Parts: sequence; structure tokens; C-alpha cells
Amino acid sequence: MTKDLATAKRPGSSQEHQDLCVTTAWPTLIDVEQAAGASTPTKRGLVMRLLVLHALLIPAALTGVSETAIVTAAVTYVARVFGITAGYHRLFSHQAYKTSRAFAFALAWLGASSGQRGPLWWAAVHRRHHRTSDTTDDVHSPRFHGLFFAHMGWILDKEQLKTRTEEVPDWAKRPELLWLDRFHLAAPASLIIVLAALGAFLEQASPALQTSALQLVAWGFVISTLAEIHVTSCVNSLAHLAGIPGGARPYDTDDDSQNIWWLALPTLGEAWHNNHHHLPGVARQGFRWWQLDLTYAALRALAVVGIVWDLRVPDRAKL
Ligand SMILES: [Zn+2]
Ligand SMILES: [Zn+2]
Repeated sequence: MTKDLATAKRPGSSQEHQDLCVTTAWPTLIDVEQAAGASTPTKRGLVMRLLVLHALLIPAALTGVSETAIVTAAVTYVARVFGITAGYHRLFSHQAYKTSRAFAFALAWLGASSGQRGPLWWAAVHRRHHRTSDTTDDVHSPRFHGLFFAHMGWILDKEQLKTRTEEVPDWAKRPELLWLDRFHLAAPASLIIVLAALGAFLEQASPALQTSALQLVAWGFVISTLAEIHVTSCVNSLAHLAGIPGGARPYDTDDDSQNIWWLALPTLGEAWHNNHHHLPGVARQGFRWWQLDLTYAALRALAVVGIVWDLRVPDRAKL
């Protein structure tokens, strides 16, 4: 049974998406992969990073709170989740719309600032997820690996940290994305510097705001990052968990994907995950008028002003 599932084809996927997922040799990028592999952190190093990131909540709480800190946390949360949902997911993983090279890089930088590694790595992992959803080859399936492993534990497997550029030949042609993928920590580092500078400026210029460099880094980076990493990880874990409260499967896809209405707002629309597995190549994931999909709404707004174009929409006959 397990073996059959692991090798099963994915009849729920559209042909367009299967075309995107085709695995091709990419020998000219072997040196890049080796370079990335050479700097891959160890499992112990990753466990320490996760523990340190969560332990930072204690000193973060000691910096106090202010309205400015809460607004900063909200802005960095929404902006970076958008970098993941519109950039890493709908653009780099699925090519669900088109945009300029400059805006694609801006989205990649925003996504990388979320601490979810580089855009090529993320898209490669995700394309593999669609091809192997809820089989033993799916690295973050709760069906086979348990809820904790599906949520975050899979990232502790060193093997999963190599960027499989053969999965993303369409994007691996761009040197700026290869660079960012390798030096992805530059993005969160830049965010920390900006937050510290803003907090220091406001502390001097407007003491009534009762904020500081440390407080804005604590709220705008530490707390915001933990929130967005856990919320977006819920799409891997809870949105593939059979029987989850509030879950629904309007489409009989060949996996356990669920729509979870109460996750739709914090994930900016990514929690209509059964919809997404039904039609993975489209830019819209909330198919009904009441299925809140803020990422798609923002993409529509960006299309109006010409920043993105050719948004792929669901075929009505398939809804
Ligand atoms: Zn999925
Ligand atoms: Zn997807």
C-alpha cells in the first residue's frame, strides 16, 4: 500500500503543473549545488537555530510593548507572508502569473527575509510536494511522518536543505536568484538592520512613542518571524491532516489536502489548500466569493497598475 502510494502518479494535478514539475538535468549548475551543499548546516546546528529562535521570545518580551511595536510586527508579518504566498509559492513554484524581473527579485528578497531559506530551495521543495503529496516521498506529509515532523521537524533533515536546482530550471537561469538562494540570510539581516535603525531614530526623534531599536527588532523580527513561520508551516501540517476541525475537501484530490476556513486570514488565502491541490497552477486559491484570499486580491490590485500580469484563473468548468 505504502509503496503504491509512493510511486503513484498524481491525477489531481493539472497537465500545466505537471509540465512545470518535470525533472530535467541541469549539469551547468552542479557547481552551484555543491557550493550550497558545502555550507549546509548540520542537524545539531539546525536544532540549535530553532531553539535559539524560540528562546529569543524571552528577551524579546523584556523589551516591552508599544503601539509602534505592534504595528511594526503586523506590517513585517503581512509583508513577509505575502513574499512567501505571492512570491515563493504562486510565482516561483507555480508560475501562476507574470511580472518583471525586478519585481520578481523584490518578492524573492521579501520571501527570503521571512527566514524560510532561499526562493529556489523553497520552490524546489514545493514542486516535489505537489508531485508526491502524501506519499512516503513527500517530506512534510503528516500521513506518513507525523504532525511535528510535517510541521517543522522535516527541516532538521540535512538532506532536505540542498537546493535541487533541477526542479527549478526556469528560475535557476537567473544569477540574482542563485545568489540570493545561496546568501538568503542577507535578507533577514537587512530587515534587522532597518528595524534597529528605525527604532533608534524613533527613540531619539519621538520619545512619546516609547519604542527603541531592541523593541522594534524584538517585535518586527523575532515575534513576527516565529508567527509567520508557524502559520505558513500549518499549510504543510494542518492543511494535510485528515479530520482537522474546520477542514473540508470539496475536491477529491489524490492526497489529504484540506480547506481550513479559520486559517485563511493569517495565511493570506493559502489555507484553501484542497482548492490549490485541485488546480495548482492558478493564481487564485479562494474559488468562492466567501473564500477570503488576500494574496489574490493584492495580485489583482497589482495587475491593475501593471506590476503583474497574465494571472492564471481557474477554468469555471473545473470548479
Ligand atoms: Zn499541499
Ligand atoms: Zn503549491
